[in-house]
Amino acid sequence: MQLHNLKDETQQVSFVEAVKTGLGRNQGVFFPKSLTPIQDIDKLLDLDFVSRSSKILSHLIGDELPADTVAQMVQNAFNFDVKLVEVEKDIYCLELFHGPTLAFKDFGGRFMAECLAQFNQGEKVTILTATSGDTGAAVAHAFYNKPNIDVVILYPKGKISLAQQKLFTTLGNNIHCYAVDGSFDDCQSMVKQAFLDDEVKQKLGLNSANSINISRLVAQVCYYFEAIAQLPKEQRSKAHISVPSGNFGNVCAAMIGAVLGMPVAKLSATTNQNDTVPRFLQNKEWAPNDTLESLSNAMDVSKPNNWPRVQF
Ligand SMILES: *Cc1c(COP(=O)(O)O)cnc(C)c1O
Repeated sequence: MQLHNLKDETQQVSFVEAVKTGLGRNQGVFFPKSLTPIQDIDKLLDLDFVSRSSKILSHLIGDELPADTVAQMVQNAFNFDVKLVEVEKDIYCLELFHGPTLAFKDFGGRFMAECLAQFNQGEKVTILTATSGDTGAAVAHAFYNKPNIDVVILYPKGKISLAQQKLFTTLGNNIHCYAVDGSFDDCQSMVKQAFLDDEVKQKLGLNSANSINISRLVAQVCYYFEAIAQLPKEQRSKAHISVPSGNFGNVCAAMIGAVLGMPVAKLSATTNQNDTVPRFLQNKEWAPNDTLESLSNAMDVSKPNNWPRVQF
């Protein structure tokens, strides 16, 4: 997989490099230069979740990793159910909360941990991550007690649920947590700032487990295919998928799925009152407001990092 930095076209990296670097120069995110549709989607949809996900990720990653290595990584990472549940006639909910920390972040966090375990050659790695609630827990559990890896989690003090907080602040060992007097966006900009300091970056072997990291995004593509596969055949191409959005990584994964050929009629991204993107689409002005607190705290993001990817 060839990726480029969306803020600096001259920086081109492989999948392995992109995963190990996290964020590119000038705080730019990496994205594949091109995406090739998968042939014979019907056959792909007939496979079970783990086999299909291995195929999708092998297709995306390309010849950098042998197919059986990817299959093993997927098997380790995706060891829990994905259920499509009919809520009422023709309305379904994709249950992505059957992983160890009860959020869809388990898919990306666990696959990223598999990637780093695969790519790491004994060097020290520090995973620095900001969380609006769910990422911290998933990343902490995915990397807990992994050799050579330290995890530093920044979270907005008092702005996440007690259950979320307990899931990652009670582990200890290689998991270090800091409550920040501020919003998720403040935490996210501290992470980005640390990445600007080459000395810090080198010394700590800095990496990010936010959806900045491409390994998380590609992992999330897989459960959209699973949603479509669980639909009755005649309904597949009529699906309208609505994605609750904060940092816009999840909806970006759905878009990658659509480009790969996943049948879908429409994708919607929905936000709460942190509505920078809807306002941007209406008046073409990127004008983030202060982050507002809501009950859907995982969506309390006013400067979504993945927007450049969605636009690209
Ligand atoms: C992370 C999260 C979101 C936001 O997803 P993004 O990829 O940041 O857009 C929405 N809902 C829940 C429950 C989440 O955990």
